[in-house]
Amino acid sequence: MSRRLDGGEQGSGGAGLAGAGAGSGALLRLEELDVRHGLLQAVRNVSLEVAEGETLALVGANGAGKSTLLRAIAGAHRPAAGRIVFDGREITAMAAHRRVKTGIVLVPEGRRLFPNLTVEENLRVARASGRGGSWSLNEVFEAFPLIEPLRRKRAASLSGGEQQATAIGRALMTNPRLLLLDEVSLGLAPIAVEGVYRSLRRLIEGGTTIVLVEQDLARAMSVADRIACMLEGRIVLEGARGELTREQVTDAYFGLRRQEATA
Ligand code: ATP
Repeated sequence: MSRRLDGGEQGSGGAGLAGAGAGSGALLRLEELDVRHGLLQAVRNVSLEVAEGETLALVGANGAGKSTLLRAIAGAHRPAAGRIVFDGREITAMAAHRRVKTGIVLVPEGRRLFPNLTVEENLRVARASGRGGSWSLNEVFEAFPLIEPLRRKRAASLSGGEQQATAIGRALMTNPRLLLLDEVSLGLAPIAVEGVYRSLRRLIEGGTTIVLVEQDLARAMSVADRIACMLEGRIVLEGARGELTREQVTDAYFGLRRQEATA
């Protein structure tokens, strides 16, 4: 079931929401979340669920609030209102470093690697901050074969695609239960995007739960189980990949339906 939410008419909380995560089994549940940057309200009344094993693509124009929403889930911004529930436990006020231990990890826009450390050192450092689990250096190199030959190179000397692969690998070293990926393909050459997505597909097939922010709609729609489109801080369209057409998502992305409705 898909939902179109024009203007401010968003559903009220988890129960009754569309999507695979509806009901009690969601790994992540956002309830009527508001996030502000000072006076600016970047996220407005967002309710959303992500089921275990699901890939949700969050799309929307520049400034729609996608990064702010991811950062709030990761604990980098404290919401002004609403609740964040992870695996049945409220984490709205939990510190970011504790969320990593709980299994929530963000790969931020710009990747933020340690530039003077090697690829391998960047990966090893992450291990200490995460949960115990099965991801090891070898497994990361298997998932991202692109970076194995670069393991002794400094992060600063890598291309954009190599850095993105290292940043995702670093997140995996924390053994996440929920991987938040911001602007996966931004600034990458097409061939690098291809390489990163080839590895992402393998993670998705392996059952990793992912929330992915992606400017490239075609990419987002090719890997996600579900799409949520943000406009001016709100989720204005949400549905399973097969239920939404490219045109519906594009319209929501640019707010076209809203303009037609008010014309
Ligand atoms: P982009 O693709 O450009 O990153 P986005 O959908 O991720 O867009 P956000 O980066 O979350 O959107 O920005 C949402 C709104 O919040 C924008 O109006 C932006 O200017 C504002 N904003 C984001 N970060 C800050 C900040 N640190 N301080 C003040 N305003 C901010």
